[in-house]
Amino acid sequence: MQTLTTHPFDDDHFKEECGVFGIFGHPEAAAHAALGLHALQHRGQESAGIVSYDGIQFHAHRGLGQVGENFSSQATMQSLVGAMAIGHVRYATTGDTTLRNVQPLFADFEFGGLAICHNGNLTNSYGIRRELVRRGSLFQSTTDTEVIVHLIATSLRATVVDRMIDALHRVEGAYSLVAMSSKELVGVRDPLGVRPLVLGRLGTTWILTSETCAFDIIGAEFVRDVEPGEMVVINEAGIRSIFPFARPPKRFCVFEYIYFARPDSIVEGTSVYEARKRIGAELARESHVDADLVIPVPDSGVPASIGYAAAAGIPFELGIIRNHYVGRTFIEPSDHIRHLGVKLKHNANRAMIEGKRVILVDDSIVRGTTSTKIVEMVRQAGAREVHMRISSPPTTNSCFYGIDTPERERLLASRFDVAGMAKFIGADSLAFISIDGLYRAMGHDGRNASQPQFCDACFTGEYPTTLADYDAAGTPAQLSLLAEIA
Ligand code: AMP
Repeated sequence: MQTLTTHPFDDDHFKEECGVFGIFGHPEAAAHAALGLHALQHRGQESAGIVSYDGIQFHAHRGLGQVGENFSSQATMQSLVGAMAIGHVRYATTGDTTLRNVQPLFADFEFGGLAICHNGNLTNSYGIRRELVRRGSLFQSTTDTEVIVHLIATSLRATVVDRMIDALHRVEGAYSLVAMSSKELVGVRDPLGVRPLVLGRLGTTWILTSETCAFDIIGAEFVRDVEPGEMVVINEAGIRSIFPFARPPKRFCVFEYIYFARPDSIVEGTSVYEARKRIGAELARESHVDADLVIPVPDSGVPASIGYAAAAGIPFELGIIRNHYVGRTFIEPSDHIRHLGVKLKHNANRAMIEGKRVILVDDSIVRGTTSTKIVEMVRQAGAREVHMRISSPPTTNSCFYGIDTPERERLLASRFDVAGMAKFIGADSLAFISIDGLYRAMGHDGRNASQPQFCDACFTGEYPTTLADYDAAGTPAQLSLLAEIA
């Protein structure tokens, strides 16, 4: 889900990440949705929402903040009556954090109510939104998801499912959607399958959600991934699957494996934890350096460090301790505060580090803030040498499909080569896994066009869709929309 805004101060904050959950046929649907959202909290910490349906009416509760802050009161949970529910967690940097953007979105249509949740970003929604506004649509939120809602409303097709198909034929980009009408629960994944969506089952209850860790928390079993371009429709008659879209080769986001998904999830048939370990091992093979210890930057660097240490034959130690009671550094509003945030979050374990040659392993360098602070901290704790190893290729391009990245010129890898980056972060050496090494770790024969590919645009600049909403510099088209209005 992405924020579409005409507010000039929000320009920097247009990318968000999300988690979705839908459940059909359980007397405590909303309670299960709340539990599922707890498991998906890493996908979005800015807001949370659940809409349920009790056979007569829809009930909604949405709020800013984390799942626990919004869904721990008995009164709230008791108000979310019904055997069907969908829920959403959303993660943004800062900026347009208004209640009207909190999902699930809900609207009353000719056919009745429909609630909808979205993970991913559309890449052609500004143009469609402009067209809809000209024809009289009144937007209630600034999200790209609402474009889908209006396209459903203006479709001339008869059924909810056909209207959704009609609407989705108009949009491009990444979407894993879960929607709920008074009759059915619908899950749909964009034709490239950029974001995950999985189907599970708890007895006779069906569940659609972003990651399998949300099944584990409610004791549900994983049935299968929803396929790219597939629509799954669940109602009283059972479950059916439709493939209404063209079927281009799949382009699942490789960064879900590197950083975003939870390590205990199985994504597209592969354990995220094991994938991270294999990436770490490949990284060790590609960029060996003599050292005394391998130290993860917690928590996201841990599985890759374990893989690195085992492959390199160097002891693994927790040389950095993470404070779990502060939020992710990315949530902090300014560079200055973000800088402090890293200190708040991590502390060097001096007893392990003093006098040692250490290899630090992290999953990515984005702006370089975390690595710079961590290297300095480890040096201050007495490390003799500090070598940084990164379990992704250099992040040279912004993501337009739902992972929060700053604009291109703020990405360290778009400003410097690897030697320049090493100097910037103050490390004795720096190495990233190669793009071929990453594909090898994922079980491919390197990155080549004859094999299935991931979406790896943040590392290669090869975007799998057109970017109609953005100019060549990656600036959102909202600026030209502003110019037009003026
Ligand atoms: P930076 O400090 O800007 O270089 O960001 C890199 C750090 O942020 C790494 O430790 C990553 O684990 C983490 N990170 C990378 N991508 C994201 C993201 N999209 N959202 C939140 N954190 C991220």
